[in-house]
Amino acid sequence: MPFSFLGLSAPLIKAIAEQGYTTLYPIQKEAIPAILDGKDILGIAQTGSGKTASFVLPILEKIQDQSTPTRNRHIRALVLVPTRELAIQINSAFNVFGNYLLSKVKCLAVHGGVSINPQMIELQGVEILVATPGRLLELISSKALSLSDVQVLVLDEADKMLNLGFKEEMTQIFDLLPSKRQTLLFSATLSNDVDSINKNLLREPIVIKVDDEIANLDLIEQTAYKITEERKGPLLRYIIIGNDLEQVLVFTSTVHRADMVADKLNKNGIKAASIHSKKSQGTRTAALSLFKAGKIRVLVATDLMARGIDIKFLPCVINYELPRSPKDYVHRIGRTGRAESRGKAISFITPEDEHHFKVIQKKMGKMATFVDGNDIDLSSF
Ligand code: AMP
Repeated sequence: MPFSFLGLSAPLIKAIAEQGYTTLYPIQKEAIPAILDGKDILGIAQTGSGKTASFVLPILEKIQDQSTPTRNRHIRALVLVPTRELAIQINSAFNVFGNYLLSKVKCLAVHGGVSINPQMIELQGVEILVATPGRLLELISSKALSLSDVQVLVLDEADKMLNLGFKEEMTQIFDLLPSKRQTLLFSATLSNDVDSINKNLLREPIVIKVDDEIANLDLIEQTAYKITEERKGPLLRYIIIGNDLEQVLVFTSTVHRADMVADKLNKNGIKAASIHSKKSQGTRTAALSLFKAGKIRVLVATDLMARGIDIKFLPCVINYELPRSPKDYVHRIGRTGRAESRGKAISFITPEDEHHFKVIQKKMGKMATFVDGNDIDLSSF
């Protein structure tokens, strides 16, 4: 279903098209009309499901529609998030999608780890605030903002917020909100704590559950190369060139490593780009479309970004570094076993990774074929 069916205004449709979104993700199809209709939402969905746009778009639509001016330092929408990265990412989504609105809606991300004073100044005229709980409370106690006009509250990655120990701060914030408001709760899991927020805060919510697409692991050929850290770069080039791989998704665990791997590949004549949370949405979208169009051979990504890569089938995924959890491993390699196609998943295993990889394989109930990368002559790579 295309976005134009939702009744969103033309400036939003234009921004959506510019992002290259053509069809609605399942969560968007259900959540956007319900949010526009004023309903509360309980969304059980992971990062990668498209949940951000599912609340960003209707919030922008509702806020730009209002004729009464915002009282200064009285925000209208509050998005609570667990991390600085997520705050920045969501704020940038508000800016990207709000770009063509006729009356500008001012959004801001506030989080700890940086000086509070510039944030206090920037809060002037802000209508949509994306915040981590601790910093939000600091700003409130400094009288830099009030929550009394909040019409929409979003709790994003609620389970993660609770895991990070924000329960007390969240409760304090809830007490400061007006009781007449719309609440949108998103969480990857419905833990007891999340459910108790749901029961206490939400009013007859529409429940939306997005299941992760489970790949058929039997269709994925898994190979693990034993290798030392220093030889990973040459081994990567050896595998890409030796197997004539034309479209490869490489995973790293850090932003820095993703940049480094892409850089090295480019220096060696293999077209590559990295995508991660430190890159702007525009750069990420551009890299992704070049990759999809076959103009970039290798895309190097961190887990968070990779979940959002909407490519139905990839022939090969390489774990340059292993993910921390078996679940993330399945997520990563699952990108190659879609739609009954066969794919290759390759993992680089250093001596330090061996135990961790055993655990992953055991949890998954599948074994990879091992190759000793130390025996491969990599001198010309
Ligand atoms: P999220 O789960 O909100 O973090 O979104 C994951 C990724 O999917 C992001 O990179 C979005 O830009 C992308 N995305 C969200 N909705 C759509 C859509 N309808 N079509 C294409 N990409 C989308």
